[in-house]
Amino acid sequence: MFRLCRCHYRQYGVVRIRPGFREFFLAAGEILFPPACLGCGAGLDGRREISYCSACLGDVSFLRQPCCTVCGLPFEAAAGDSHLCGTCLVHPWHFTRARAAVRYQPPVSEAIKMFKYGGRMHGVKTLAALSQQWLQEQPLPEPDLLLPVPLHVRRLRRRGFNQALVLCRQIFPAWKEKIAASLLERHVWTRPQTGLQGAARRGNVRNSFRVRRPEKVRNKRILLVDDVFTTGATVNECAKTLAGNRAAEVTVFTLARALV
Ligand SMILES: [Zn+2]
Ligand SMILES: [Zn+2]
Repeated sequence: MFRLCRCHYRQYGVVRIRPGFREFFLAAGEILFPPACLGCGAGLDGRREISYCSACLGDVSFLRQPCCTVCGLPFEAAAGDSHLCGTCLVHPWHFTRARAAVRYQPPVSEAIKMFKYGGRMHGVKTLAALSQQWLQEQPLPEPDLLLPVPLHVRRLRRRGFNQALVLCRQIFPAWKEKIAASLLERHVWTRPQTGLQGAARRGNVRNSFRVRRPEKVRNKRILLVDDVFTTGATVNECAKTLAGNRAAEVTVFTLARALV
């Protein structure tokens, strides 16, 4: 069992394996587990960035314009240009814009669950590659800081890693120096958002975040990164906390977005 101190968890968010061992395990994995589709398990002809067969890749739904200019909600093509959606007109967010790469549905949703709840890291490269493919088409403005949505230290201990931080590092390697994993802190223990509806989700995360070094976020353009945008309650609460500490603006990027 891994035992890490509180500071180590906060700083790194992941359990680290010594580099030599890591290479050994990767090489052994290549022999023991030949390339297979992450979705259906079908054999693949060689390793690739996105480990999906053509059928499973066809089920990945990339989110494209037109969309809501603030929350990123996709519209039908017939809706014309991107514009504000009804929700954003009535209920402004604390972030400037939120964007997601793909719709939260199989096979991506299953890969996220395996990664997040099962600790199976082999799908992370594929999830990151899907995000990078989307970002090439629809680049985001370069931020001053990248902040992964933090976990409470109790959940971090239990899970062993922060999925938002792992994704942040994999998706944005060119901006790795800008990742500030411990600046935003989840200091209040809350029950999981899964199973809660809109108002209950907002109430559950209210005032549960704080900034550890306020001077570090002041006047900064921040990119907040998470795995899934469901109702937006969590990222909105993070953005509220950052805005309260005088961040210049907050953009949200999530790998996936749940759409009903
Ligand atoms: Zn497949
Ligand atoms: Zn909207």
